[in-house]
Amino acid sequence: MKDNISKLRDCYGCGVCTAVCPVKIIDLKENQDGFYSPVISDEDKCINCGLCLKVCAFNHKELALDNSKPQSFAGYSGSDIVRQRCSSGGVGFEIGKKLLEKGYKACGVRYDVEKERAEHFIASNVEEYTPSIGSKYIQSFSQVAFTSINRKERYLVSGTPCQIDSFRRYIRHFKIEENFILLDFFCHGVPSMLLWRDYLHEVENKVGKAGFVAWRNKTNGWHDSWNMNIDPADPKDVDWHNSYNINIMGKKHFYQSRWKGGDLFYKIFLGNYCLNKCCYKSCKYKCFASSADIRIGDLWGKAFKDDNLGTNAVISFTDRGNTLLEELSECILTPVSDQTCVEGQMDKCPSLPLIYRPLLEALGKEVSLRDTYNRIIKPYRLLTIPKRGINLICYKIGVKPLFH
Ligand SMILES: Cc1cc2nc3c(=O)[nH]c(=O)nc-3n(C[C@H](O)[C@H](O)[C@H](O)COP(=O)(O)OP(=O)(O)OC[C@H]3O[C@@H](n4cnc5c(N)ncnc54)[C@H](O)[C@@H]3O)c2cc1C
Repeated sequence: MKDNISKLRDCYGCGVCTAVCPVKIIDLKENQDGFYSPVISDEDKCINCGLCLKVCAFNHKELALDNSKPQSFAGYSGSDIVRQRCSSGGVGFEIGKKLLEKGYKACGVRYDVEKERAEHFIASNVEEYTPSIGSKYIQSFSQVAFTSINRKERYLVSGTPCQIDSFRRYIRHFKIEENFILLDFFCHGVPSMLLWRDYLHEVENKVGKAGFVAWRNKTNGWHDSWNMNIDPADPKDVDWHNSYNINIMGKKHFYQSRWKGGDLFYKIFLGNYCLNKCCYKSCKYKCFASSADIRIGDLWGKAFKDDNLGTNAVISFTDRGNTLLEELSECILTPVSDQTCVEGQMDKCPSLPLIYRPLLEALGKEVSLRDTYNRIIKPYRLLTIPKRGINLICYKIGVKPLFH
């Protein structure tokens, strides 16, 4: 057997192997559980170069970057409009904007309503970059964008920590780290696309084909912003969907569903019932573990509990990251302690729930998501009440949860 990624099981699906393969025989395909996974189209053409395994973060125990001197900040964009539209404080978007103005390209993630998926794309100017605004809480399809990156040009590449860890190995292999700034975020994990499509199709049956999807909305404030918005296609709305210059708060949404109001996508995603298998077993990227130049996230925790516009946790790991943050005059950045920066973040992988397999088998079938929830997840939640109760007490008294 050739020494290539076909020997790996349940990898991150980051897609960097598709870009490094010199004979272009690796494709990212959705597997039966609804996660992207590399597939070799023609094993005979494999030249056994081993590059796919060399750049693969899943294939290495250690991180690509030794980031021993992180610098932590609380930050937000100086523009209230940007801050309002972004998931946290808008620092991620401002970093993209700054680098685009300096002649970089920016590789971020947008949602494609036709393909019903999140995907990496490359923007050459700020207007093109606006669809990257907002977290899409599903795995992104990275192959098309990653394989079209021109290694002679300068890029900002943002993504999940595992995508970025592999990407760091990729640019190091080609000795082009100087051309790239890498940005990742604290990552909860990604849920199965089977869940996403079940959810989306049920909503579409009520409101019509989606023309716009957003996972967060700050109408009720940042602390209650896990709020699904699915609007039917309407060409008149294209401008405001894509432009950060327009304040979305004045617009009416056709479908809105809040996590706090019992939204099923969020209950299943944030309940950790159907994340990618590697998110339970092999995520080595919690808190300060990153191969990026800069990490961003929501700055939860006591210090910002009264802020309702959104504040980022921002961590710089490299000299390039420090320099960029110093130049980021569009943002208000305040140094905070490392502890404040990661307060409220997951610091361990969740445990694989006993209902993992039955749940994945039920998703994607002709059963309503509510029925699946009631039949599989609800009884399991009853069984786990004691553990969840203890965790809630830990949270209330300000200590780490005992169970994951
Ligand atoms: C799957 C996922 C899990 C997350 N888990 C946490 C968490 O546990 N704790 C936490 O504090 N923050 C988490 N975040 C990050 C958080 O939601 C915000 O994206 C982050 O704080 C940046 O916000 P912003 O206001 O600076 O900019 P935004 O405009 O909201 O920035 C969004 C950035 O994320 C990128 N992006 C969006 N969707 C994806 C995707 N599916 N895959 C890869 N990149 C994507 C965009 O390209 C853009 O650069 C998660 C994000 C995702 C996508």
